[in-house]
Amino acid sequence: MVKFIFVTGGVLSSVGKGIVTSSVGKMLQVRGFTVTAIKIDPYVNVDSGTMNPYMHGEVFVTEDGGETDLDLGWYERFLGMNLPKENNITTGQVYQAVIERERRGDFLGRCVQIVPHITDEIKRRIRVVAEKSQVDVVLVEVGGTVGDIEGLPFLEAIRQMRLEEGFMNTLYIHVALVPILDVTGEMKTKPLQHSVNELRRIGIQPDIIVARSTKMITEEARRKIALFGTIPRNAVFCSYTVPLVYQVPLILDEQGMGDYICERLALPRRKGDWSGWRSMIDAYLNPEHEIRIALVGKYARLTDAYVSMREAFTHAGMACRTKVNIDYIEAERFEEKPEDVEMLGDYDGIFVPYGFGSRGVEGKIAAIRYARENDVPFLGICYGFQLAVVEFARNVCGLNGAHTTEVDPDTPHPVVDLMPEQRGVEFKGATMRLGAHKILIEEGTLAYKIYRRREIYERHRHRWEVNPDYWDILKRHGLVFSGRSPDGRRMEILELPNKYFFFASQFHGEFKSRPGNPSPEYYGFVKACVDRKLGAPRPEF
Ligand code: GLN
Repeated sequence: MVKFIFVTGGVLSSVGKGIVTSSVGKMLQVRGFTVTAIKIDPYVNVDSGTMNPYMHGEVFVTEDGGETDLDLGWYERFLGMNLPKENNITTGQVYQAVIERERRGDFLGRCVQIVPHITDEIKRRIRVVAEKSQVDVVLVEVGGTVGDIEGLPFLEAIRQMRLEEGFMNTLYIHVALVPILDVTGEMKTKPLQHSVNELRRIGIQPDIIVARSTKMITEEARRKIALFGTIPRNAVFCSYTVPLVYQVPLILDEQGMGDYICERLALPRRKGDWSGWRSMIDAYLNPEHEIRIALVGKYARLTDAYVSMREAFTHAGMACRTKVNIDYIEAERFEEKPEDVEMLGDYDGIFVPYGFGSRGVEGKIAAIRYARENDVPFLGICYGFQLAVVEFARNVCGLNGAHTTEVDPDTPHPVVDLMPEQRGVEFKGATMRLGAHKILIEEGTLAYKIYRRREIYERHRHRWEVNPDYWDILKRHGLVFSGRSPDGRRMEILELPNKYFFFASQFHGEFKSRPGNPSPEYYGFVKACVDRKLGAPRPEF
């Protein structure tokens, strides 16, 4: 029988519930159990696609084209698996489904209510994932903090699931912050106690409490948490701050969490094999090289907007035993003070990430130009790819005023334009070109060297692309399109063969990057940055 582990959070959001959930999955996985993970987002949006990354962090794109919460990215990276979009459940989806059924007449004669209709739909969605995935354990993380109005129907649904699935098949983990006072250095468990009380008021008694703190909790703090949380002391664990998030499953397992969970869920007790995971962490903690990369973007102030990208650099760095330092630079800075672009000369690589709209675009183009003219290794992703085309069209092909129609609809040279199928789109939700699509790679190119195959599948999230009317002129001036869609209608990768490393893709390699299995484009870029810094000839891969 499938087991369910529910993870709730207290005191503050963003305390690392997603990392704890992923870590629990990892602890079970290294013991040979199969797992999947669901993220519940109590907001009314149907998906994360229409949310500003400034507010909510990055939108994570799944293989099947879901625009989901970034926690799915953590699950995928920790568990090394692709998750379907139905593993992200939101209030919007639940209400939409119930209201559609009500309109169809499925509930004729009845009053449609939060309990049982909304809660039933929540449970149904969780069980659909359990059914389809056929795993031993399903992890369900409830977003937000206990006590939020929006979260109540979800907490009620998971409360009911204990009754329906049985005590031995359900486990509640509560993750809450334990702050340390600056002045006295004292650990304060009172906010955590209050959040446990709030959870119990709803009818959920946690089985395990994870205290999130900057340091390992003291015995006194553990005693209080156990006493007021009404759980044994050995059911209290601490997720303290470590240099690398991928260490969290190890530190929790060392405290006995994996064994405790197995025992509580009556799973056969097995020893976890952490050897592979440990050696990967070792590569991170003991680097041989160090590089600095300039990320020139628009959401630079909120680094959560680029989590998957940052992690892809970490994975690539581990594979090259290199510490990758990323400086987040607001692109607009190069618009206000054009001479500032010279600062990019201090970096080992220039990276232009995804983006939307016009803010900062000229600054990004200036950064790309600097990379091309000074032969600094360059990687562009999605908007970074499109703007590399704009830069090349303007400054190499001499197409004055060339632009993407996203920014300038009246440009004389629309080198990046809306795809025909996007022209009639009126609804913004889930209408971009999304998810994994096949890409054919040209042999003998840099792309072929780093991917080492003719066919790849990478994830997308865009509306605009390179205008076919300009392919010829761009190619004649030396731009190589080394990857394209199988029907030949879309350009997916560009490179400049006479540069040290100048590479950009319409797709987002970061969504499939995993520790121990980095995205080839990020790996290629990081390796090029290291080699160039060491004065080595251009990497052959
Ligand atoms: N704004 C561009 C488009 O929609 C690029 C999108 C992106 O960078 N993800 O095509």
